[in-house]
Amino acid sequence: MTRELGIEIVGNGVMAYEALTPKMGYKGEVGSLVWVPELIVNKEGNRFVDETGQSTDIALQTYLQTDDISFGIHDSQGDRIEDFEAGVEMGLIYKGDTLEELADKVGINVENFVATVEKYNATVANGTEDEFGSILSQMKPPTEGPFYAVPIRACIIGTMPGLKVNENCQVIGPNGRAIENLFAAGELMFGNIFNRVYPATGTAIALAIYTGKIAGETANNQIIN
Ligand SMILES: Cc1cc2nc3c(=O)[nH]c(=O)nc-3n(C[C@H](O)[C@H](O)[C@H](O)COP(=O)(O)OP(=O)(O)OC[C@H]3O[C@@H](n4cnc5c(N)ncnc54)[C@H](O)[C@@H]3O)c2cc1C
Repeated sequence: MTRELGIEIVGNGVMAYEALTPKMGYKGEVGSLVWVPELIVNKEGNRFVDETGQSTDIALQTYLQTDDISFGIHDSQGDRIEDFEAGVEMGLIYKGDTLEELADKVGINVENFVATVEKYNATVANGTEDEFGSILSQMKPPTEGPFYAVPIRACIIGTMPGLKVNENCQVIGPNGRAIENLFAAGELMFGNIFNRVYPATGTAIALAIYTGKIAGETANNQIIN
């Protein structure tokens, strides 16, 4: 119906999550390791994103790196070592006794990588502001070998385009003006608000509820007027 009216579709971006392999996704004991490390580097051995930020943003930024891949770095501390070892056994996770050995096995720039880890660890040790805006208390400095590298890829979870609306949830026509008696709320208009990065779980439900209210109120006011 809206196609016939020539209504603009906005926010036709692709949303992604981090995934270990296209088959494994981001679930399971080994697959979920993509969420454990708080230091992520690209093939050049550099950081490129706030690792304490949104998964959808990390996935999107990963997709923009060399060969569409990044690597989550973890050391031998924490309660997931058994899972890391299982990943190594399966040939999915890299392991190295030293940072240099790990970088070598992964095939990333060794010099940059070592410098990146040193800088990251110093930020946490000194309590200074992180250059990517990561939350200090959530940063996990890899200090004790052996070290692990988890390949991270962007796995597509969907698209969220929407009909172009104004602040009253009225659908906008090709002439840029609101079409009379045509409203869009919820999934029909998500693309106006988000479409590549999902701000937080609950955003969709909340947006559906409050845009439903706005659209209802606008319709009600128009009937009364
Ligand atoms: C598996 C899954 C997990 C999710 N998890 C979350 C989450 O954790 N947090 C979050 O915020 N969001 C989540 N979402 C998204 C969120 O649930 C939806 O975006 C939201 O419910 C959309 O609400 P809506 O009212 O726009 O659309 P809908 O809930 O789809 O409502 C549309 C209604 O219109 C009816 N309908 C369709 N055509 C007609 C017609 N011709 N005549 C009459 N009725 C019609 C349908 O039957 C339906 O009842 C999830 C979605 C899925 C599928």
